Amino acid sequence: MFDGEIVKCFVCGNELGTSESADPTVLTAVDGGLWFRAYGNYGSTVFDPMPDDGFLRIAICDQCIRNNTGSIGHVTNIKQTTTSEIKPPDIADVPS
Ligand SMILES: [Zn+2]
Repeated sequence: MFDGEIVKCFVCGNELGTSESADPTVLTAVDGGLWFRAYGNYGSTVFDPMPDDGFLRIAICDQCIRNNTGSIGHVTNIKQTTTSEIKPPDIADVPS
């Protein structure tokens, strides 16, 4: 039986509660903090995995976020655009 995992702030180490899922891909709610997923990127010297090779998960408490708001970007108004479409082919009849 899964007994839970104590979730701690990545920055200060404060406990944010206990994860209620044994599945590490499920980021259950934490008290007074946020979860983040990092899929790595080219250029990182610590995490640059191959595609589909998982992610890093990090929880940060609300106070540490408040202490560093100047380093945070809140991305909103995300646009979804269609870059291609599919339709039936326009094929001419063969003359008889
Ligand atoms: Zn913290």
